[in-house]
Amino acid sequence: MDLGIKGKTALVCASSKGLGRGCAEALAEAGVHLVLNARGAEALEATAADIRAKWGVNVTAVAADITTDAGRDRVLAATGGKADILVTNAGGPPPGLWSDWTRDDFIKALDANMLTPIALMQALLPGMIAQGWGRVVNITSQSVKSPIPALGLSNAARTGLTGFVAGTARQVAPNGVTINNLLPGIHATDRAISLDGGVAKAQGISVDEARVRREATIPVRRYGTAAEFGAACAFLCSQHAGFIVGQNILLDGGAGNATI
Ligand code: NAP
Repeated sequence: MDLGIKGKTALVCASSKGLGRGCAEALAEAGVHLVLNARGAEALEATAADIRAKWGVNVTAVAADITTDAGRDRVLAATGGKADILVTNAGGPPPGLWSDWTRDDFIKALDANMLTPIALMQALLPGMIAQGWGRVVNITSQSVKSPIPALGLSNAARTGLTGFVAGTARQVAPNGVTINNLLPGIHATDRAISLDGGVAKAQGISVDEARVRREATIPVRRYGTAAEFGAACAFLCSQHAGFIVGQNILLDGGAGNATI
């Protein structure tokens, strides 16, 4: 399917690896020029070079922490303050116990997973509105629909972002701009492997055993892939998705046991 977005430009945050990279690859395959971002310059430059070579699009790489004001300023400067497509993403907060989290822990989680995507939207939505076309996809989590108790910081911050998107998506939709959230269930990325490591340690089992046990909880009996996730993101950014507004789309292999 021709996604109809060839030649457009996208900012894809936190995209040297994992789900962000999956989104960047799928957009590049559709002919979209990219600004990529991650903190570590080496992996980021390698990803940028791979994508340029594979898809022949322009790729600008900005090594910066997207959750800081200074980092965001540098990333936004690389877009010239304008992008047709914005994919927000950042690392998720660490697991823990509700009784241990301090105010600072909450502020850090809110900064990373709620206030950063909001600040990026505030910066780029005006240009999208002015040109009458734009797409925003926020990478959130299945924890928005179905809480993961040990990830309370993530549950809290991402639900806050979801509330912001619910109203804002309806405000910008008349201008040809859509905002939607993609909710990953378990995908085979470094993040999932590190969570498996935590479970293995806590339960005294191997990382492989921890993965087998988690896969057994997913109806498709495997983890999702970054490529599958990226394809869904690229579709939401396509010309065909203009009627999809303010949705929270779960990509979890059926793990969330709910009728709606
Ligand atoms: P990942 O494989 O660990 O990749 C994270 C990417 O984000 C890397 O490129 C990393 O590069 C970059 N990054 C992290 N923090 C950043 C920051 N502050 N500023 C800029 N770049 C940053 O993670 P993932 O699995 O793709 O997860 C992406 C998001 O989806 C996370 O928020 C995660 O919590 C959420 N999620 C993932 C899953 C899953 O199963 N994978 C499930 C639910 C939710 P640097 O480290 O070099 O910065």
